[in-house]
Amino acid sequence: MGHCDAAGVPHEPQRMSPVTYKAEYIWIDGTEPTAKLRSKTRILAEGEELPLWGFDGSSTNQAKGSSSDCVLKPVFSCPDPIRGGAGDLLVLCEVLNTDLTPHESNTRAELAEVAERFAAQEPVFGIEQEYTFFEGGRPLGFPVGGFPAPQGGYYCGVGVDEIHGRDVVEAHLENCLRAGLGISGINAEVMPGQWEFQVGPLAPLEVADQLWIARWLLYRTAEDFGVSATLDPKPVKGDWNGAGAHTNFSTRAMRERYDAIITACESLGEGSKPLDHVKNYGAGIDDRLTGLHETAPWNEYSYGVSDRGASVRIPWQVEKDGKGYIEDRRPNANVDPYVVTRLLVDTCCTALEK
Ligand code: ADP
Ligand code: MN
Ligand code: MN
Ligand code: MN
Ligand code: MN
Repeated sequence: MGHCDAAGVPHEPQRMSPVTYKAEYIWIDGTEPTAKLRSKTRILAEGEELPLWGFDGSSTNQAKGSSSDCVLKPVFSCPDPIRGGAGDLLVLCEVLNTDLTPHESNTRAELAEVAERFAAQEPVFGIEQEYTFFEGGRPLGFPVGGFPAPQGGYYCGVGVDEIHGRDVVEAHLENCLRAGLGISGINAEVMPGQWEFQVGPLAPLEVADQLWIARWLLYRTAEDFGVSATLDPKPVKGDWNGAGAHTNFSTRAMRERYDAIITACESLGEGSKPLDHVKNYGAGIDDRLTGLHETAPWNEYSYGVSDRGASVRIPWQVEKDGKGYIEDRRPNANVDPYVVTRLLVDTCCTALEK
């Protein structure tokens, strides 16, 4: 029985514990060849600052069992749309060694340096994240023991014969918006069960941090629907599109002048640059960049206006306006956004500085 106050209104006994909230600490592990996301929950008191935390690096391919501690350093946080309680947070972390230097798996620290060095050029990115839903070991929409109708009607389609997983996609979009992420759109892709969302335009660290959180939200949202999502760049062999992460890029000069657009495109083709980029654009890149399915071959660099068979596309509107951005079509869906943004800023901004 509850107590009554003087006016006879029942009230609950006062809670003795302080007000708390849940912080989901999220980090990128050391799985080879493609890192995975990990997370765990910390209960914090109201008003408490986000503390450094630790984890068992021997369980994430980040340390040996004999000296297993790794450090989590919060670098970006946003409201948690999954738990949804006031004060509940998603907390993206960098992984540090116990002496607080960046861990070797920490690619964000390197991007932070390069982004800082070229900040005056105001680089901006929009990344198109493609992915594929799986259920029962096959892509969502693929019949048991067979294949669906060939590609053609699925891209931006509508109707149960073409669309698989829209309820999950809508829930993910809503979660990204409630988290305050800079998600700018979604669309159904060329293969059944394949979808895309776009993050940006945002500065290098912002776009990469927010893309990692949007990926975590994708897996977490899909969990509640009993499906999995994968960034596998070639989830079905044969005559089915792979999954990429087209990376749209501009600097202030590119947003003002066409010659800067051309300088950026040319810089990506110089010397060892094509290979330096492609080999860091996600595991299995040669399986996807075959020259078929709207790709350029991984070992031949090219750029062109409106050309979806080129390595780098200049959108038609950009040529018409004489300014804007370029689209690097090579990165795989499983690319590390800290790496692709660092390479593009480094290569293009170095050339534009001259
Ligand atoms: P596509 O036609 O290749 O499918 P999308 O509409 O999926 O293009 O994605 C285009 C992306 O380009 C969006 O993420 C958008 O934010 C980004 N973008 C637009 N303008 C710029 C810009 N000036 N610099 C960098 N990215 C940009
Ligand atoms: Mn334990
Ligand atoms: Mn797109
Ligand atoms: Mn696409
Ligand atoms: Mn694109």
